[in-house]
Amino acid sequence: AAKGEGKGRCQLFHQQMDIDYHYRQRLKADLREALAAGALSLVFQPLLDISSHRVVSCEALARWTHPELGPIPPATFIPLAEEMGIISEITAFVVRSAVAECSQWAGEIGVAVNVSGRDFRGLDLPGLVDEALAESGLSAPRLELEVTETAVIEETDLAQSVLESLSARGISIALDDFGTGYSSLSYLSALPFNKLKIDRSFVQDIAEDERALSLLANVARLGRDLDLTVVAEGVETEDQLRAMLEHTGIQQVQGYFFSRPLPARDIAELISHLNGQTSPLLPAKRKHG
Ligand code: C2E
Ligand code: MG
Ligand code: MG
Ligand code: MG
Repeated sequence: AAKGEGKGRCQLFHQQMDIDYHYRQRLKADLREALAAGALSLVFQPLLDISSHRVVSCEALARWTHPELGPIPPATFIPLAEEMGIISEITAFVVRSAVAECSQWAGEIGVAVNVSGRDFRGLDLPGLVDEALAESGLSAPRLELEVTETAVIEETDLAQSVLESLSARGISIALDDFGTGYSSLSYLSALPFNKLKIDRSFVQDIAEDERALSLLANVARLGRDLDLTVVAEGVETEDQLRAMLEHTGIQQVQGYFFSRPLPARDIAELISHLNGQTSPLLPAKRKHG
């Protein structure tokens, strides 16, 4: 029986692999079409400055709604695009659209775009950025590019020269998902980063777990010591925000507690709503008794 079961399981495994394979092949073909047809879109999520309580920028996030399969998360389609060698076309679309949107927003609010490790080789990023800024009239400091540790490690030398040339233009560079990658700290000071975005896994438990809070505080201090603007991703609750305010030197926050990512047409209203709140990010803690 054991043998038979093993065989069955093996068959199931192969069937599953076939399904995965066919599913991925289909997604790849459809993604290529979607990109060509202009069917990808962007949503934007605000980052707030803790001390001024104001929206400082919005992160642009790519969205793809498949006509039959519904929304496909970027965690699925971005790696496919990398595999297919079309990620740079997506990046170009995202940079152009994000910069164009941002130039419509009031005040000095900036926009952040995620860049793939493949883009260092597959794309003339400085050229793309120059073009997008010139077309929209947006000033360089209002654009931020987010790169992950993985992206930087894949292409160390190229990443260094491309990031330096972007940085020389006044564009801000953020290290995204900090703490989830290789955590080789040497390049933190070698590369021209302006901002450290601490991954949301460091935020998740801080309201209940003192050790988690202490870890977050220490990661934040590492960033501050390197003169980086320190951001926490994935703030979902008031308790997380409170713990962060009281015990860490984190300067900016992003997460569902403030807003989910929203389509461009809702951003102006969201910004004026968030910035119209005159109170601090948190109401004063109620005193007991
Ligand atoms: P990321 O750059 O770290 O973006 C933040 C992700 O966290 C977004 O997921 C956002 O919706 C989600 N998020 C924000 N606040 C919260 C929160 O409070 N709780 C939780 N659980 N999640 C929160 P999304 O949009 O699904 O994107 C996932 C990842 O896909 C991004 O992570 C980024 O690495 C990649 N990605 C998205 N758009 C692009 C793009 O245009 N180009 C590239 N290269 N990568 C992209
Ligand atoms: Mg990001
Ligand atoms: Mg991130
Ligand atoms: Mg992330």
